[in-house]
Amino acid sequence: MTDRFSFTLHATDGKARTGTIHTPRGEIRTPAFMPVGTAATVKAMLPESVRATGADILLGNTYHLMLRPTAERIARLGGLHRFMNWDRPILTDSGGFQVMSLAALRKLTEEGVRFSSHIDGSKHMLSPERSMEIQKLLGSDIVMCFDECPALPATEEVVAQSMRLSMRWAQRSRDAFGDRPGHALFGIQQGGVTEDLRGESAEALKAIGFDGYAVGGLAVGEGQETMFSVLDYAPGMLPADKPRYLMGVGKPDDIVGAVQRGIDMMDCVLPSRSGRTGQAWTRRGQVNIKNARHMDDPRPLDEACTCPACRSYSRAYLHHVFRAGEIIASMLLTWHNLHYYHELMEGLRGAIRAGTLDAFVADFHAQRAAGDIAPL
Ligand SMILES: [Zn+2]
Repeated sequence: MTDRFSFTLHATDGKARTGTIHTPRGEIRTPAFMPVGTAATVKAMLPESVRATGADILLGNTYHLMLRPTAERIARLGGLHRFMNWDRPILTDSGGFQVMSLAALRKLTEEGVRFSSHIDGSKHMLSPERSMEIQKLLGSDIVMCFDECPALPATEEVVAQSMRLSMRWAQRSRDAFGDRPGHALFGIQQGGVTEDLRGESAEALKAIGFDGYAVGGLAVGEGQETMFSVLDYAPGMLPADKPRYLMGVGKPDDIVGAVQRGIDMMDCVLPSRSGRTGQAWTRRGQVNIKNARHMDDPRPLDEACTCPACRSYSRAYLHHVFRAGEIIASMLLTWHNLHYYHELMEGLRGAIRAGTLDAFVADFHAQRAAGDIAPL
């Protein structure tokens, strides 16, 4: 245990890295996948079950929590860790992305964003200073700078103006965050798909100085090829001795490609959201449990998987409970998906340590290409 936030790099393989983020609330093995606990819960999962799938850290959403139950109430109740019964590290986003995608009647100025709640229409303001205040009230271990990300497609001029506003907000976030030993503040690189703008953003962030750096403004519908083309250069613009976080990614093959390009941390709602819509992610690709082919199938989702859904239940049972709208369908499929994601991360970490990442990735793609087991 440590009373400080720090990052130790253990090994590299090509651009890929494996290491450990040390925090007073525990260690985070990287590359790390962070399940999303939007409203102070990873939907359909107990926190101890999320931990059992292999998660070292969760993500919480500032926008949702500030509206309901409010950051002030969570602070009065002892902070987010105690409130949701998760004593390990928590990263909170700044609210910037979600206020632009969810809130009504938004008004963006140099000061920040005024908006109406999507829940009850109440009026709120998010600014760098208010976002830092909320994330402190929540007790977040890794705090994200308040930034702005223009809706795509946008012209290069719009992306440049937005990025420069985000860099001014990054300085204000740094100033408002202050000195909080044991807590980290991450800067967020913007600049869309333009290399020069990404470089300008990286230089501005490095001049301010952060405990970690995120690649922002990707995974917003640009497609994997475009995302990878940015990740071919963007992570290398950020300091090598600090964690690099790709926000909102992604599908298993997005994660593998991002890790190959030097990303250390990722988050996505996909494994939990898919679990609630009958989609399972396995080493053989995506399985739609709603499909009638599973109705009489006594085999597990994946005979090699050690999660409770695969150990104790058949495809036929999962199909039945999903079709019947039973809550256990979401619980079992979410558990399996998170288990699969964390097993993939463990495999990536082991391969980077062993210097065998290329072979691991080739095998990952070969298994997916072979597809699901044949129907009975
Ligand atoms: Zn499983």
